[in-house]
This record gives sequence, C-alpha cells and structure tokens, in this order.
Amino acid sequence: MGIEADLVIRGGAVIDGTGRDPIQADIAVKDGRIATIGEVRGSGREEIDARGRVVTPGFIDVHTHYDGQAVWDSQLAPSSQHGVTTVVMGNCGVGFAPVRAGDHETLIELMEGVEDIPGPVLHQGLEFRWESFAEYLDVLETKPRDIDVCALVPHAAVRVYIMGKRALDLEPANQGDIAAMRAIVAEAVRAGAFGFSTSRTISHKTLKGDFTPTLRAQEDELTGIALGLRDIGAGFLELVSDWNEPDPETEFALVRRVVERSGRPLLFSLTARHDRTEDWRKLLALSNAAAAEGLPIRPVFPPRPIGILLGLQGSQNPFSGTDSFKAIAHLPLAEKVAAMRDPAVRTRILSEDRVTGSNFPLITRLSFDRMFPFSDPPDYTPARENSIAAAAAREGRTPEEVAYDMLLADEGHGFIFAALTNYADYTLGPSAELLRHPNTLVGLSDGGAHVGFISDGSFPTFLLTYWGRDRREGTMPLPELVRRQTSDSARAAGLSDRGVLAPGMKADINVIDFDTLALERPGMVWDLPGGGRRLLQRARGYAATIVGGTVTYRDGEATGALPGRLVRSGAPA
Ligand SMILES: [Zn+2]
Repeated sequence: MGIEADLVIRGGAVIDGTGRDPIQADIAVKDGRIATIGEVRGSGREEIDARGRVVTPGFIDVHTHYDGQAVWDSQLAPSSQHGVTTVVMGNCGVGFAPVRAGDHETLIELMEGVEDIPGPVLHQGLEFRWESFAEYLDVLETKPRDIDVCALVPHAAVRVYIMGKRALDLEPANQGDIAAMRAIVAEAVRAGAFGFSTSRTISHKTLKGDFTPTLRAQEDELTGIALGLRDIGAGFLELVSDWNEPDPETEFALVRRVVERSGRPLLFSLTARHDRTEDWRKLLALSNAAAAEGLPIRPVFPPRPIGILLGLQGSQNPFSGTDSFKAIAHLPLAEKVAAMRDPAVRTRILSEDRVTGSNFPLITRLSFDRMFPFSDPPDYTPARENSIAAAAAREGRTPEEVAYDMLLADEGHGFIFAALTNYADYTLGPSAELLRHPNTLVGLSDGGAHVGFISDGSFPTFLLTYWGRDRREGTMPLPELVRRQTSDSARAAGLSDRGVLAPGMKADINVIDFDTLALERPGMVWDLPGGGRRLLQRARGYAATIVGGTVTYRDGEATGALPGRLVRSGAPA
C-alpha cells in the first residue's frame, strides 16, 4: 500500500453537510478535491487522526465585509479562525469598486461610517490599484489568502461612479443613470461578482452623519440594476432595509416586484428589532409566501443577538457622545481610566447629553435594560436580572452610574455587552423560530466590519456550540446546524463546488473536537495597517481547518499555508 492521497482524515464522524446523520468514515483528498469517503486503505502523504471528532465541510459565511482586508491581509480573521473557508463580501451596498480616482475618499468615509473600519487603516491598506470592478477582482486574485473570497458589487460604489455628487445627495437616478448602472453591474458579474448588494437603512451613515447614497434608491433604479443580472442570467441580490418606510408590507412588496421582474434570487438581512417587535414575523411570513409562489427571497438572520461591545478600548461606549468624554477619548487607556476616575470628570460625563453627539446611528436603540457585564467566558444569553438596569434598581443608583463604573473595572479592559436585536424578551426565541424555517439562511456575522465594537464573526462557532450542545431549553441536531452553514449557504451564494463532503467536491473541511469546542472572550488587537485596532475572538476545538486540501489551521493556530483564492462566479475554484 503506497501513498495514494495527499491527505487522509481518518476515523472521524463525517457530517457531510446535507443534513444527513454522521457516518464513521475516512476521507481521502487528492489534488485539492475529495477523492474517497469510506474506508481508505492506502496512506496519505499527510494524515489526520479524527477519531472522536466530527468532520464537516468548511463553513460558508454569506454576509461579511472583508472588501478592504482582503486587499492587504492574507488571513481573513476572525472568520478563518472559526472554521469558515469561504466568505462572501461586498454586502450592504458598500465596498471599493468601481471607483474613480477622485472618489477614493468618499468610499473610505462611507466604509468608515457604515462598517466602522477606520479611515487611516483603509487609506494605508487599500492603495486603489483599480477603477473598474473587474480590475478590483484582478487585484484580489493576485493575493493568496487562508480562505476563499467571493465578492458582490456594491450599489453605493456603482451609484457614486455613475451619478457622482447626485448620488451622495440621494437624488433619484434618471433613465440614463439606470441604464449605465445596469450595464456596469452586468459587467461586474460577468467578471466574477456573485451579485449586487444595496442598503436602505438609516443606520448606514458616513462618520460625518450623511446617509448612505443608496438609501432612497427608487424602484425603477433597483429594478433596472436587477435586470442587469437577468441580462447575463447570473448573480443574486442582497439587501438590508429598515422595512419601516413606510411599513414592512409596502417595502417588501417593492422588493418582491424587483425579484419578480428580474428573476434573480434575493437575500435580505432580518433581525428582531427591540423597538418594532412584530416586524420580523411579518417579514418571515411575507418571504415564506413569496417562496411558496416560487420567488426566491430568503431572510438571512443571526443565531444570537447582534452584540455591541461597549468599552474604553473600542470605538463605542455609552458616553462616547458626551463632550467631556470626547475631550479624553484620544488618551491612552491608562490615562483615560485615570481621567474618568476623577470625581469632577465623572460628574460632568454623567450629566451630559449622550445621544445628540453620538456617531453611532443606533444609539437610541441601545438600552440599559439589555446591557450586561460581558463575562469570561462570554455569555451571549445573559439573564434579565444581570442587566445594568436591574443592577441599578437593586443598588439604588442610575443605570448610567453603573455603566460608568463597569467601564472602569479591570483597568478599562472590560466590555459591556449590549444586545442590539434578537433579545427583546431575554431569550433567543426569534432565532429559534428562524432556525426551524427552511426558507431562512443563517448569517449576518459582518466579519471584517465593525471592528471596534462588534465581534460577531464568531457566529459559525456559536451556532454549533450553543444551538447544538449548550442551550438549556433544548438543542438542535448537529447535522442540521452544519447543513445551515455549508450546503445551504453554498447554494444560496451560487457555489456548486463546495458545501458538501462528497467525492469530487472541493476539499474544504473542518475536523472539530465538538466536546471542547468553545468561544474565547474577544480582545482588542492593534494589528491593522497603521496600527489600527480591531476586536479578535478565537475559538478552541478546531483540530484542523483545511482549504482545498491544505491544512490552514491546526488546533487554532495558523499553519501559514495560503491556499485560499478569489472565486469568480460561474468559475469553480
Ligand atoms: Zn453588513
């Protein structure tokens, strides 16, 4: 018996991504693809002992924002540290191509505001060696990475490219604009984009406070662009909306007509807002009804609260908007903590308006009722009685005082966990219901974005540990949870060569010690271009992650191998 395979993964419980029960099997990999699943007699050049472990396809995360990071960084952490082997980026209508030389700053300011990726980091990291989307893809293609990337063409960039200042002023597009956008989006998808993304939410603003240029795009513009996808018969639409202009039914009807006319599938972000608690149910019902009539409209929802991490090291805290905090915001952490311990400063900050001066568009949707001390290990379903509001009531203090002192604990290294959505009644009830629905898709990690105050790139690990093992109210079958972030997300993105463990498929594989799989607490790291900061969060229990047959992570540590590539739509990697 000689060497017959490049890699053999031996004796694991193979969960193949289709939802089927695990089978005990070996997997042989040759030339980057799965050659055999079953009993492998010959030895491999490399062998992984997977006895007692589960073996799954690599995870596919359809909602990320690595558009900048993919240009300068070979490691797409945090996603690549959580078993993810393919990401789709360019969501929410923001990105960096197409772009004219005079508009670099505009797109940077937008990404800085919308996705909290610092402007200086983007300035230093991007270099903008492209104008068209095709040229951007060519630049991405030259760089090896630890995982594969797929890109969507973002509406904001397209709109600014075609309409210039009129796009920023939220003017309606005229027929000439629409025809030009239709052509440019078709060209981008022909070059390899997986689709087109847009944003209709007031929470997406530049740091200066201007709305994202696509906010008020009208139906004829969205339809015209979607027809660009129909023209070449490829690509999906991705959309985020507040759904309250004027109401979910009217906005959904518009989206539905765009899908009807273009015939292209659409994914939209769905979270259970705390201020409009019934909207998510309406949108689920509307999308189910559409799907039942053959219209491919699928909500993408997060498996836990969208978690805002408020802290003195990050870019947001409950007092970021006050004048007296702004005066000390630039100080190194130790000096900031010292300043905040000064009783006079404390009194001033606590007495000032927190809301008006905030650059966080959703500041009014963060409530002390759903802010909690962020524990170690992290607890993403904290109890109501542990909220800052509850603690304040018990202690006879104001919630602001409790929050202020919490920020100063641990010399300013701590975080307050603020559940922004999906936690109205202090359970993950909406996520549970959405997870049971065949038409929904799990996602919204926003990996690569909000790097100073959100660390949800760890969703894939949470999906398995919480929903598959730790949830007190009952768990879900692991094969189904794996299917959610492998074959299900692959199909939604239009990826046919991955997401299932089967002979001939791309050898993107995780070997997981499921009993010990766990999330570590996120921490701030200063490793972005120019020393910019970001939250990173690691996991324990990924024995190996394999991309195209090459081991990229072993026991949570990067091997340094960079087999990941740009994937072009229609062209298997
Ligand atoms: Zn997003």
